[in-house]
Amino acid sequence: MKCVQVTEPGQLTHADTAEPTGSDPGHAVVRMSTVGICGTDVKILSGAIPVSYPRIMGHEMAGVVEMAARSGPPTGRRVLIDPAIVCGTCALCRKGRGNLCLEGGLLGRDADGVFAEYISVPSHRLLEIPDSVSGAAAGLLQVLGTCVHAQRSAPVFPGDTAVVLGLGVSGLLFTQLLRQCGVTVVGVTRSEWKQELARRLGAAAVATPGDARSVLEELTEGRGADLVVEAVGIEATLSQSIELAAVGGEVLVFGTLTSGSQGLPYYQLYFKELTLRNPRAATIDDYARGIELAASGALDLEAIVTDHLGLADASEAFERVKSPDSLKVLMSIT
Ligand SMILES: [Zn+2]
Ligand SMILES: [Zn+2]
Repeated sequence: MKCVQVTEPGQLTHADTAEPTGSDPGHAVVRMSTVGICGTDVKILSGAIPVSYPRIMGHEMAGVVEMAARSGPPTGRRVLIDPAIVCGTCALCRKGRGNLCLEGGLLGRDADGVFAEYISVPSHRLLEIPDSVSGAAAGLLQVLGTCVHAQRSAPVFPGDTAVVLGLGVSGLLFTQLLRQCGVTVVGVTRSEWKQELARRLGAAAVATPGDARSVLEELTEGRGADLVVEAVGIEATLSQSIELAAVGGEVLVFGTLTSGSQGLPYYQLYFKELTLRNPRAATIDDYARGIELAASGALDLEAIVTDHLGLADASEAFERVKSPDSLKVLMSIT
Protein backbone atom coordinates (compact mmCIF):
# COMPACT_ATOMS: atom_id res chain seq x y z
CA MET A 1 0.00 0.00 0.00
CA LYS A 2 1.01 3.60 -0.54
CA CYS A 3 2.18 5.54 2.49
CA VAL A 4 4.16 8.60 3.55
CA GLN A 5 7.02 8.05 5.99
CA VAL A 6 9.61 10.16 7.70
CA THR A 7 12.86 8.26 7.10
CA GLU A 8 15.23 10.69 8.88
CA PRO A 9 14.79 14.24 10.19
CA GLY A 10 13.54 16.43 7.33
CA GLN A 11 13.14 13.51 4.92
CA LEU A 12 9.60 12.77 3.69
CA THR A 13 9.46 9.58 1.64
CA HIS A 14 6.69 7.98 -0.41
CA ALA A 15 6.91 4.25 0.16
CA ASP A 16 5.11 1.02 -0.60
CA THR A 17 4.56 -1.19 2.44
CA ALA A 18 2.62 -4.34 3.25
CA GLU A 19 -1.12 -3.96 3.80
CA PRO A 20 -2.48 -5.06 7.16
CA THR A 21 -3.86 -8.59 6.90
CA GLY A 22 -6.71 -8.19 9.37
CA SER A 23 -5.43 -11.06 11.47
CA ASP A 24 -4.80 -9.09 14.70
CA PRO A 25 -7.43 -10.18 17.25
CA GLY A 26 -9.79 -7.36 18.26
CA HIS A 27 -8.48 -5.17 15.45
CA ALA A 28 -10.30 -3.71 12.46
CA VAL A 29 -8.67 -2.67 9.20
CA VAL A 30 -9.62 0.86 8.18
CA ARG A 31 -9.21 2.34 4.70
CA MET A 32 -8.35 6.03 4.98
CA SER A 33 -10.38 8.59 3.03
CA THR A 34 -9.16 11.92 4.40
CA VAL A 35 -6.24 12.74 6.66
CA GLY A 36 -5.18 16.02 8.24
CA ILE A 37 -1.72 17.46 8.83
CA CYS A 38 -1.03 19.42 12.00
CA GLY A 39 1.84 21.10 13.81
CA THR A 40 2.79 17.83 15.52
CA ASP A 41 3.38 16.17 12.13
CA VAL A 42 5.50 19.14 11.04
CA LYS A 43 7.61 18.75 14.19
CA ILE A 44 7.92 14.98 13.63
CA LEU A 45 9.04 15.56 10.04
CA SER A 46 11.61 18.20 11.04
CA GLY A 47 13.01 16.00 13.82
CA ALA A 48 11.93 18.42 16.60
CA ILE A 49 9.86 15.49 17.91
CA PRO A 50 12.10 12.42 17.49
CA VAL A 51 10.59 9.11 16.41
CA SER A 52 12.04 5.76 15.43
CA TYR A 53 12.64 5.74 11.67
CA PRO A 54 11.08 4.94 9.27
CA ARG A 55 7.73 6.01 10.67
CA ILE A 56 4.42 6.43 8.83
CA MET A 57 3.19 9.82 10.08
CA GLY A 58 -0.33 11.08 10.77
CA HIS A 59 -2.93 10.91 13.54
CA GLU A 60 -5.87 12.90 12.10
CA MET A 61 -8.14 10.89 9.85
CA ALA A 62 -11.55 9.80 8.63
CA GLY A 63 -11.97 6.47 6.86
CA VAL A 64 -14.12 3.44 6.18
CA VAL A 65 -14.00 0.03 7.89
CA GLU A 66 -12.55 -2.39 5.35
CA MET A 67 -12.45 -5.48 7.58
CA ALA A 68 -14.48 -5.31 10.78
CA ALA A 69 -13.51 -6.92 14.07
CA ARG A 70 -15.98 -9.15 15.92
CA SER A 71 -17.19 -6.10 17.87
CA GLY A 72 -17.26 -2.44 16.88
CA PRO A 73 -18.40 -0.72 13.69
CA PRO A 74 -19.24 -3.10 10.80
CA THR A 75 -17.51 -3.21 7.42
CA GLY A 76 -18.41 -0.27 5.19
CA ARG A 77 -19.10 2.16 8.04
CA ARG A 78 -17.38 5.57 8.07
CA VAL A 79 -15.24 6.02 11.18
CA LEU A 80 -12.87 8.23 13.12
CA ILE A 81 -9.91 6.58 14.85
CA ASP A 82 -9.08 7.82 18.34
CA PRO A 83 -5.31 8.05 17.69
CA ALA A 84 -4.26 7.63 21.32
CA ILE A 85 -2.42 4.45 22.20
CA VAL A 86 -3.56 3.57 25.72
CA CYS A 87 -2.83 0.68 28.07
CA GLY A 88 -6.29 0.64 29.67
CA THR A 89 -4.92 -0.52 33.02
CA CYS A 90 -2.70 2.21 34.50
CA ALA A 91 -3.94 4.48 37.31
CA LEU A 92 -4.98 7.25 34.90
CA CYS A 93 -6.68 4.93 32.39
CA ARG A 94 -8.67 3.46 35.29
CA LYS A 95 -9.82 6.97 36.21
CA GLY A 96 -11.14 7.49 32.66
CA ARG A 97 -8.23 9.77 31.82
CA GLY A 98 -6.79 7.71 28.98
CA ASN A 99 -5.47 10.90 27.35
CA LEU A 100 -2.85 10.93 30.12
CA CYS A 101 -2.10 7.16 30.03
CA LEU A 102 1.24 6.53 31.72
CA GLU A 103 2.16 3.98 29.04
CA GLY A 104 0.43 5.97 26.30
CA GLY A 105 1.44 7.08 22.84
CA LEU A 106 0.14 8.54 19.60
CA LEU A 107 -0.37 7.03 16.15
CA GLY A 108 2.06 8.56 13.68
CA ARG A 109 4.60 9.19 16.43
CA ASP A 110 4.94 6.14 18.65
CA ALA A 111 3.47 3.69 16.12
CA ASP A 112 2.79 3.86 12.39
CA GLY A 113 0.02 6.33 11.63
CA VAL A 114 -2.63 7.21 9.10
CA PHE A 115 -0.76 8.71 6.12
CA ALA A 116 -1.32 5.38 4.39
CA GLU A 117 -4.06 3.56 2.54
CA TYR A 118 -4.84 1.20 5.43
CA ILE A 119 -4.23 0.78 9.13
CA SER A 120 -5.09 -1.95 11.62
CA VAL A 121 -6.36 -0.60 14.97
CA PRO A 122 -8.18 -1.97 18.03
CA SER A 123 -11.87 -1.78 17.17
CA HIS A 124 -12.75 -0.14 20.49
CA ARG A 125 -10.90 2.96 19.30
CA LEU A 126 -13.26 3.48 16.36
CA LEU A 127 -16.15 5.93 16.42
CA GLU A 128 -18.83 5.98 13.72
CA ILE A 129 -19.26 9.21 11.75
CA PRO A 130 -22.90 9.99 10.82
CA ASP A 131 -23.75 10.81 7.18
CA SER A 132 -24.61 14.41 8.06
CA VAL A 133 -20.90 15.13 8.52
CA SER A 134 -19.33 15.98 5.14
CA GLY A 135 -16.09 14.40 3.95
CA ALA A 136 -14.06 17.57 4.52
CA ALA A 137 -15.62 18.19 7.93
CA ALA A 138 -14.80 14.61 8.94
CA GLY A 139 -11.12 15.42 8.44
CA LEU A 140 -11.39 17.93 11.31
CA LEU A 141 -13.04 15.67 13.89
CA GLN A 142 -9.82 14.65 15.61
CA VAL A 143 -8.72 18.26 16.19
CA LEU A 144 -12.26 19.10 17.26
CA GLY A 145 -12.08 16.35 19.89
CA THR A 146 -9.00 17.93 21.46
CA CYS A 147 -10.75 21.34 21.56
CA VAL A 148 -13.86 19.76 23.09
CA HIS A 149 -11.64 18.13 25.73
CA ALA A 150 -10.07 21.49 26.58
CA GLN A 151 -13.32 23.40 26.59
CA ARG A 152 -15.06 20.86 28.83
CA SER A 153 -12.32 21.34 31.42
CA ALA A 154 -13.12 25.05 31.75
CA PRO A 155 -16.82 25.54 32.49
CA VAL A 156 -18.38 28.70 31.03
CA PHE A 157 -21.85 30.21 31.36
CA PRO A 158 -24.08 32.12 28.96
CA GLY A 159 -23.20 35.79 29.17
CA ASP A 160 -19.51 35.15 29.98
CA THR A 161 -16.89 36.86 27.89
CA ALA A 162 -13.98 34.88 26.44
CA VAL A 163 -10.92 35.97 24.51
CA VAL A 164 -9.39 33.56 22.01
CA LEU A 165 -5.74 34.45 21.33
CA GLY A 166 -4.71 33.04 17.96
CA LEU A 167 -7.26 32.23 15.24
CA GLY A 168 -5.72 29.20 13.60
CA VAL A 169 -7.63 25.92 13.29
CA SER A 170 -8.07 25.42 17.04
CA GLY A 171 -8.75 29.11 17.76
CA LEU A 172 -11.57 29.11 15.20
CA LEU A 173 -12.96 25.88 16.67
CA PHE A 174 -12.90 27.40 20.19
CA THR A 175 -14.65 30.49 18.83
CA GLN A 176 -17.50 28.28 17.63
CA LEU A 177 -17.61 26.00 20.68
CA LEU A 178 -17.77 28.97 23.07
CA ARG A 179 -20.36 30.72 20.93
CA GLN A 180 -22.47 27.55 21.21
CA CYS A 181 -22.37 27.98 25.01
CA GLY A 182 -23.73 31.52 24.78
CA VAL A 183 -20.35 33.13 25.45
CA THR A 184 -19.37 36.50 23.95
CA VAL A 185 -16.13 35.80 22.07
CA VAL A 186 -13.37 38.24 21.20
CA GLY A 187 -11.06 36.74 18.58
CA VAL A 188 -7.49 38.04 18.44
CA THR A 189 -5.11 37.79 15.49
CA ARG A 190 -3.06 40.06 13.27
CA SER A 191 -4.48 38.41 10.15
CA GLU A 192 -7.36 40.36 8.61
CA TRP A 193 -8.85 37.42 6.74
CA LYS A 194 -8.82 35.26 9.87
CA GLN A 195 -10.53 38.10 11.77
CA GLU A 196 -13.20 38.20 9.11
CA LEU A 197 -13.67 34.42 9.24
CA ALA A 198 -13.91 34.51 13.06
CA ARG A 199 -16.68 37.09 12.81
CA ARG A 200 -18.53 34.89 10.33
CA LEU A 201 -18.13 31.93 12.70
CA GLY A 202 -19.63 33.79 15.66
CA ALA A 203 -17.03 36.07 17.27
CA ALA A 204 -18.80 39.14 18.70
CA ALA A 205 -15.65 41.22 18.21
CA VAL A 206 -12.19 40.80 16.73
CA ALA A 207 -8.95 42.61 17.47
CA THR A 208 -5.25 42.69 16.76
CA PRO A 209 -3.01 41.75 19.72
CA GLY A 210 -2.34 45.47 20.24
CA ASP A 211 -6.05 46.38 20.35
CA ALA A 212 -7.23 43.38 22.35
CA ARG A 213 -7.16 45.10 25.72
CA SER A 214 -9.19 48.16 24.67
CA VAL A 215 -11.75 46.08 22.75
CA LEU A 216 -12.16 43.77 25.74
CA GLU A 217 -12.40 46.61 28.25
CA GLU A 218 -15.12 48.24 26.26
CA LEU A 219 -17.10 44.98 26.10
CA THR A 220 -16.71 44.17 29.80
CA GLU A 221 -16.66 47.65 31.35
CA GLY A 222 -13.04 47.10 32.29
CA ARG A 223 -13.52 43.73 34.06
CA GLY A 224 -11.55 41.58 31.64
CA ALA A 225 -12.32 38.12 30.28
CA ASP A 226 -13.91 35.31 32.30
CA LEU A 227 -11.93 32.90 30.13
CA VAL A 228 -8.89 33.41 27.93
CA VAL A 229 -7.94 30.66 25.50
CA GLU A 230 -4.25 30.72 24.57
CA ALA A 231 -4.19 29.06 21.14
CA VAL A 232 -0.78 30.17 19.88
CA GLY A 233 1.73 28.39 22.09
CA ILE A 234 4.27 31.11 22.88
CA GLU A 235 5.19 32.83 26.11
CA ALA A 236 4.14 36.31 24.92
CA THR A 237 0.55 35.20 24.36
CA LEU A 238 0.47 33.31 27.66
CA SER A 239 1.55 36.57 29.35
CA GLN A 240 -1.13 38.45 27.50
CA SER A 241 -3.70 35.81 28.51
CA ILE A 242 -2.93 36.47 32.19
CA GLU A 243 -3.18 40.22 31.60
CA LEU A 244 -6.55 39.99 29.80
CA ALA A 245 -8.18 37.65 32.34
CA ALA A 246 -10.66 39.11 34.83
CA VAL A 247 -10.11 38.79 38.57
CA GLY A 248 -11.17 35.23 39.37
CA GLY A 249 -10.90 34.26 35.70
CA GLU A 250 -9.44 31.26 33.91
CA VAL A 251 -6.73 30.79 31.34
CA LEU A 252 -6.90 27.75 29.09
CA VAL A 253 -3.41 27.08 27.82
CA PHE A 254 -4.14 25.13 24.63
CA GLY A 255 -1.01 26.07 22.68
CA THR A 256 1.94 23.82 23.53
CA LEU A 257 4.65 25.88 25.23
CA THR A 258 8.01 24.18 25.52
CA SER A 259 10.25 27.09 26.53
CA GLY A 260 10.27 30.74 27.49
CA SER A 261 12.66 33.32 28.86
CA GLN A 262 10.66 36.51 29.33
CA GLY A 263 8.86 35.45 32.49
CA LEU A 264 5.13 35.78 33.19
CA PRO A 265 3.12 38.44 35.05
CA TYR A 266 3.34 36.34 38.22
CA TYR A 267 1.86 38.92 40.54
CA GLN A 268 -1.30 39.11 38.41
CA LEU A 269 -1.56 35.31 38.52
CA TYR A 270 -1.74 35.59 42.31
CA PHE A 271 -3.67 38.82 42.65
CA LYS A 272 -6.43 37.74 40.26
CA GLU A 273 -6.49 34.23 41.79
CA LEU A 274 -6.39 32.87 38.25
CA THR A 275 -6.94 29.26 37.32
CA LEU A 276 -4.57 27.94 34.64
CA ARG A 277 -5.51 24.77 32.81
CA ASN A 278 -3.20 23.00 30.42
CA PRO A 279 -5.29 20.28 28.75
CA ARG A 280 -3.61 17.56 26.69
CA ALA A 281 -5.09 15.45 23.86
CA ALA A 282 -8.60 14.01 24.34
CA THR A 283 -10.49 11.00 25.63
CA ILE A 284 -12.67 8.83 23.42
CA ASP A 285 -15.70 10.47 25.05
CA ASP A 286 -14.48 13.91 23.91
CA TYR A 287 -14.29 12.60 20.33
CA ALA A 288 -17.82 11.19 20.64
CA ARG A 289 -19.13 14.58 21.81
CA GLY A 290 -17.30 16.38 19.03
CA ILE A 291 -18.86 14.04 16.45
CA GLU A 292 -22.32 14.69 17.93
CA LEU A 293 -21.79 18.44 17.70
CA ALA A 294 -20.53 18.23 14.14
CA ALA A 295 -23.43 15.97 13.12
CA SER A 296 -25.96 18.40 14.64
CA GLY A 297 -24.84 21.12 12.24
CA ALA A 298 -23.93 23.44 15.12
CA LEU A 299 -20.40 24.02 13.81
CA ASP A 300 -19.03 25.09 10.45
CA LEU A 301 -16.00 22.86 10.06
CA GLU A 302 -15.64 23.16 6.29
CA ALA A 303 -14.98 26.89 6.63
CA ILE A 304 -11.71 26.00 8.37
CA VAL A 305 -10.43 23.74 5.57
CA THR A 306 -8.32 25.82 3.17
CA ASP A 307 -6.33 23.15 1.32
CA HIS A 308 -7.26 19.70 0.10
CA LEU A 309 -4.53 17.79 -1.75
CA GLY A 310 -3.75 14.19 -2.64
CA LEU A 311 -1.32 11.95 -0.74
CA ALA A 312 1.03 12.19 -3.74
CA ASP A 313 1.39 15.92 -2.96
CA ALA A 314 2.34 15.37 0.68
CA SER A 315 5.49 17.56 0.47
CA GLU A 316 3.45 20.46 -0.85
CA ALA A 317 0.79 19.83 1.82
CA PHE A 318 3.43 20.02 4.58
CA GLU A 319 4.60 23.37 3.13
CA ARG A 320 1.06 24.73 3.14
CA VAL A 321 0.57 23.91 6.82
CA LYS A 322 3.28 26.49 7.57
CA SER A 323 1.74 29.15 5.30
CA PRO A 324 -0.10 32.15 6.82
CA ASP A 325 -2.69 31.72 4.04
CA SER A 326 -3.68 28.25 5.21
CA LEU A 327 -5.77 26.85 8.04
CA LYS A 328 -6.52 23.11 7.94
CA VAL A 329 -4.66 21.18 5.29
CA LEU A 330 -6.25 17.85 4.35
CA MET A 331 -5.06 15.07 2.05
CA SER A 332 -7.35 12.62 0.25
CA ILE A 333 -6.05 9.07 0.30
CA THR A 334 -8.69 7.20 -1.70
ZN1 LIG B 1 -3.01 16.92 15.22
ZN1 LIG C 1 -2.88 3.69 30.74
